[in-house]
Formats: sequence, structure tokens, C-alpha cells
Amino acid sequence: MFKNCILFSGTNKIQKYYFVLIEMILITSLFVTGCVQKKQIIMTVSGPLPAQDMGTTLAHEHFLVDFIGAGSTGYHRWDRNKVEERVLPYLMDIKDYGVKTLVECTPAYLGRDPLLLKSLSRKSGINILTNTGFYGARDNIFIPNFAFAESAEQLADRWINEWEEGLEGTGIKPGFIKIAVDAGDTLSVMHAKLIRAAALTHLATGLTIMSHTGPEKPFFNQLDILEQEGVAPEAFIWTHAQRGTRTSHIEAAKQGVWVSLDNVFPDSARIGEYVDMLVNLKQNNLLHRVLLSHDAGWYHVGEPNGGNFREFIILFKILIPALSNNGFTDQDIRQILVINPQKAFTIKVRRINNM
Ligand SMILES: [Zn+2]
Repeated sequence: MFKNCILFSGTNKIQKYYFVLIEMILITSLFVTGCVQKKQIIMTVSGPLPAQDMGTTLAHEHFLVDFIGAGSTGYHRWDRNKVEERVLPYLMDIKDYGVKTLVECTPAYLGRDPLLLKSLSRKSGINILTNTGFYGARDNIFIPNFAFAESAEQLADRWINEWEEGLEGTGIKPGFIKIAVDAGDTLSVMHAKLIRAAALTHLATGLTIMSHTGPEKPFFNQLDILEQEGVAPEAFIWTHAQRGTRTSHIEAAKQGVWVSLDNVFPDSARIGEYVDMLVNLKQNNLLHRVLLSHDAGWYHVGEPNGGNFREFIILFKILIPALSNNGFTDQDIRQILVINPQKAFTIKVRRINNM
């Protein structure tokens, strides 16, 4: 490295040893710096975390949802302490199954409460991720009025600001972008704007885009817009992909998209469907593109004590044993629940042709 360095000319042996030592220290420090720079992180409600420390992860769940609509929702609608009391035991349950991280997918104007999440994370010891973005599905009733008049660039500026400054003055940062589109054959103007804003936000922040989507038509429509904006498929989680065809799962996964099968229920017919979908992906060597979760929880604001709360453990109690009976190895399960979430939620800009 420094063999031709001018410092070596006219030096004695001791000085040469000294320079060799300096050279070794420099090379070591450059190597260490390189490693640190390459370290992949995710963003939890308690701050950044090395992705490799995520452990077993539930990639799509909810603690609280307020369906009243963007015009009427707000923190006055629920008692944070009561919600916490109701939800905490369910988090303690998943610890028994080795879960270390949970991705909480409730967006703003639908019950997102960063302080509730941070407190639950502290009390349970589970890493929790929250999000930025707007939820357009159900005909935009969870979209705030100002968003209709704003451009994709203006919406992206708001979401980028949440990444840079934290959510609503809490200092808590989002760990991904959550949007939602309706299930029709074409995207509405509003929903096309949401995915474009999500693309711009991704390029500025490296946050992964999780889009409530369902069937394959709106999925492919969103993928087209990502392509126009230069965002690679690896930056996109096709949420509720269980509503898409088996063929489209394969096509999406081959392109690099995260295929999220995220509505696991205990009844045997639905468990059978999940086994079939996962066997299909395994047979096509595509398990490295799959995310799996329950879309469970849901303290329902407005119902006594939050109403019926779905637990987060069916995957471990029923689905995984069923997968084991169908040829899935421990390594397959680890791929889906540990490795894939690390890669999916790592903060990293994924541009087309520049992975
Ligand atoms: Zn959900």
C-alpha cells in the first residue's frame, strides 16, 4: 500500500518497521470501518437495531385499530394504559415461542400510536417496528383531507420528514412505509399517488414499502409505478398476497418482491391453504422471498375492553407443525421467520440495476 511512499526513502530499519506497523494499523482500521459501514440495521420504536439481532419475527400484526375514519380518530379515542393492559399478555405469550421482533402495521389515521408501541416494547422486551405512510383502501376513509390536494412529492416530503424527525414529536422513527390500495383492476388516482409517494420516500430513506394489496392486479399495477420511479421489486412487500393466485406468487417472488402471506387463522381449511401456498413456493425454490404472519391482534377502539383480540401464536401452534408434516425443515422455517424479515426490513435504498 505504502511501498512506494516517499517516507520510505532514506529511512533506517527501525523507521521501516515503524512505517510497516502504521500501515497495518491503517489497513485494520479501514477494514473495521468498512464492516461498520456495511452493517445492516432496522429501525425499531426504541431506535436502530442490527438486522441480525431481529431473531424470530412476526412481520404483520396490529395492537390497536380505530375504524372511525381519518376525520374523527385521535388519541382522545382510547386510553393508552387500558390498551396496554389488554395487549401486553399477548406479547408475553409470543416470547414463549421465541419471538423477538414484531412489525406493527397500523398506519396513521387508523390508530397508529408510537408511544403505546414504545411502552409495550419496553415492558415486553419485544422489538417493535412502526411505520409512516397513508392507508388508501376502503375508499380512502382513512386518508386525511389535506392528502387529496397534495402531490406525490408533497406526501413523500411528509413521510421523509417523519423518518428524519420522528413521528408526531415523539422522536420515534418509522421502520417501514405502510400504504394501502383497493383491490380493483386499476389503481385510482389517489392510490397511484400513494405508491408513487412511497417510491419517492423509499429512494430518500431506504425504508421498505409494505402495501396492503390483496389480489395480483393491484400488485402488478403498483410494481409498474415502482419501475417508473426506478425502485427495485426487493423494496416492496406484497401484503395480503394470500388473495393472489399461486402463479402470481411465483412470478412476484422471482422478480424479487417479498410475498407476504399474513392472515393465518386456526381453522383447518385456511391452514391447508397456507400449507399449499408455501409448498408451491418451496417447490419453486422461492422460500427466500416469503414473509409469514397473522394480521392478528386488533384492540377495537369503541368496543368494550377492545372487543375480541386475536392471539399471535397460531402460526407456531398449528401452521409450523403442519408445514413440518409436509417436508419443511427447521432451516426452511428459519429462512421465513428469521432471515427473510432481516433482509426485508433492513434500511437500504434498492434501485433498479443498483442492488
Ligand atoms: Zn394488517
